[in-house]
Amino acid sequence: MKDLIRSNNTELPSHAPLCQFAVENDMLQLGGVSLRRLAQRVGSTPFYAYERAHIARRVADLRAALPAGVHVHYAMKANPMPAVVQWLAGLVDGIDVASGGELATALDTPMPAERISFAGPGKSDAELARAVAAGVLVNVESGAQLERLALASERLGLTARVAVRVNPDFALRRTGMRMGGGAQPFGVDAALVPALLGRIGQLGLDFHGFHLYAGSQSLSAPALAEAQALSVQLALQLADSAPSPLRTLNIGGGFGVPYFPGDQALGLAPVAEGLQRQLAILDQAAPGARLNLELGRYLVAEAGVYVCKVLERKVSHGQVFLVTDGGLHHHLAASGNFGQLIRKNYPVAIGNRLLGGPREVASVVGPLCTPLDLLADQMEMARAEEGDLVVVFQSGAYGLTASPTAFLGHPLPAEVLV
Ligand SMILES: *Cc1c(COP(=O)(O)O)cnc(C)c1O
Repeated sequence: MKDLIRSNNTELPSHAPLCQFAVENDMLQLGGVSLRRLAQRVGSTPFYAYERAHIARRVADLRAALPAGVHVHYAMKANPMPAVVQWLAGLVDGIDVASGGELATALDTPMPAERISFAGPGKSDAELARAVAAGVLVNVESGAQLERLALASERLGLTARVAVRVNPDFALRRTGMRMGGGAQPFGVDAALVPALLGRIGQLGLDFHGFHLYAGSQSLSAPALAEAQALSVQLALQLADSAPSPLRTLNIGGGFGVPYFPGDQALGLAPVAEGLQRQLAILDQAAPGARLNLELGRYLVAEAGVYVCKVLERKVSHGQVFLVTDGGLHHHLAASGNFGQLIRKNYPVAIGNRLLGGPREVASVVGPLCTPLDLLADQMEMARAEEGDLVVVFQSGAYGLTASPTAFLGHPLPAEVLV
């Protein structure tokens, strides 16, 4: 398979090879459909397309690499499109939600309620009541949230299933987005957890275990293995204060995908070795406890593309701008404004001119009146014409629902699972 993103400049770091999709006659193929035909089928641009087969392959490869005792959950905020969640529900062992809206989507899938867990620092009373009524596992994130959960439980006459989200004293090293270690709005500080466990016992709630989440988007296997080992160690220590034996341990995820030049795909083998050790430790100390990983972007990011159409080729002071109908309002992350410190290009290509023809350096911009509306900044790509289809790869996670779609009042893009 040829590399779809090429650069003649060998001095700069390049994007990791993209080999997940087929190409025929220079045209990207998604789920066996040519990009042009898919655009006709969707009926309008821009759109997001997610490839079913890629998602299935990703889960299968992950399961083949990890020890059998590790359960894989989908953290659905990465891509909450109902069709995607339905598809994943048949492939993974559980779904992790973080709002009442996500809970409703997850409950519409065949995933049993006892395999759905609900995290989030700001759960409303209404959301807590819905979660208890549904019978999902609630990861409580504070003492106050626990009290409100107990009230919901009492009002409904149903025993809430509860886990404690712990704010660990460590963070995932070498990652852009830390979500543990030090002061955090997420979870209960490790030092306060024993008292909270005592309270769960007093309230008579159904204690299941712990949830730890140390960070996101890590491409370092040693850093992930280290965080996983520390998570298991901390959970087992805290389990001594629990009102009942540990049954579930969710040690988070944080598996990253290569987005930017210089990024290299995560190698799973060292992570799998580490998990094998953690399973043995867990089996000794808490026989029968389930070990769960919760993965978002790792399962879906590489299966998705964002597609927009070139409206105009424009040359300003010698620089080529491809003005498209898509942009920041649909894909904030590719514009570099979703938590990135330094703007870097996502892999972007002209989807109907992938391998042949003349090439040039161009910038891809959207229709918004702001210089932030930039999908590619002076990248080498095929020389594009009006009507060509620009493809932003690695776009299956944190795309549409992580973007300010109302900004400037353009229509919403379509989404397809193909
Ligand atoms: C966002 C989130 C995830 C998913 O993160 P990815 O980087 O997409 O894998 C998992 N767990 C929790 C608690 C989260 O907040």
